[in-house]
Amino acid sequence: MPAFKKYRIHVPKCNDHMIVFAALPHTVDVDQWMKKKADDCDCAALAAEKAKAREQKPINPIKASKKT
Ligand SMILES: [Zn+2]
Repeated sequence: MPAFKKYRIHVPKCNDHMIVFAALPHTVDVDQWMKKKADDCDCAALAAEKAKAREQKPINPIKASKKT
């Protein structure tokens, strides 16, 4: 079983990024897969999700600063 990885995909359509967790088999071309994900972007839903995420301020500064 392939491990789940976090992918940050830039979407040219809405000039935004989407975060996708996926366990891709080795046979999958990641570039093609990411391009397809970007093409399939539900821009309104992504924007709503981003707005919601912005409302939730980080309450744990240690966890928030650990992002590297
Ligand atoms: Zn979009």
